[in-house]
Amino acid sequence: MKSKQNIILEEIYLNNKSQKEIADNLDISESYVSQIASKAKMLRIPLKIVDDKLVCTKCEKENDNLMFHHNHSTGEYIALVCRSCNVKFRANNDFDYAEPSLFYPNTVHSKISEETNQKLIKVALVKKITISELIRKILEEYTT
Ligand SMILES: [Zn+2]
Repeated sequence: MKSKQNIILEEIYLNNKSQKEIADNLDISESYVSQIASKAKMLRIPLKIVDDKLVCTKCEKENDNLMFHHNHSTGEYIALVCRSCNVKFRANNDFDYAEPSLFYPNTVHSKISEETNQKLIKVALVKKITISELIRKILEEYTT
């Protein structure tokens, strides 16, 4: 079944419906519709429409439950993708973007400099381990 979010985005971008019309048709609040609309507007990589259908920005396949891939640190909305592509972002660093939430817990992030953070992310990506594991290894090296 198609998610409400998908339906809302299609109504806006494919059918040119007004937010009020969409809210009435789906029996949901206008503010929810406007929230989805503004998320879509803030996407770094714009929505992708192929053959008059909304598709995953990455694999370009139709999907009933597209989601906003976003940066958990900054809140920036990156791209509208399917669930399986959303997971791949984390592994492959596609679109030059690493999913930060996988790599470090907030507690670590807030206590070290941005420069150190970036270095940790790079090394962790190369070594294919999480930031937490990397830090544990570094600490082991210097404390034994
Ligand atoms: Zn996809």
